[in-house]
Amino acid sequence: MATLQQIRKAVEKHGGTLTDSSAGRYKVFHADLPPGKCWYANGLHVLTMEWRAGEPEYRKESLEDILERIGYGVGTCGDDECEWCHPVEEAAQ
Ligand SMILES: [Zn+2]
Repeated sequence: MATLQQIRKAVEKHGGTLTDSSAGRYKVFHADLPPGKCWYANGLHVLTMEWRAGEPEYRKESLEDILERIGYGVGTCGDDECEWCHPVEEAAQ
């Protein structure tokens, strides 16, 4: 069974960070990658998992799902206009 600590380690192995954005019973975690890298699983820089407190089955599924997606690995972001890697300055808009 996947644990939060296991997921955090897997994310950090790729140079990313696992951020807890939970609000009350609504649990949300983001696995962020540094600029220039993206998850193969979705081609984005962030993977998200969420569940509601008191739903252990849903929590278990979310943890296993994100661990599997992290396992697909990390690629390079080749998008020159990607806002994550190349933040647009407010003044330039
Ligand atoms: Zn990017």
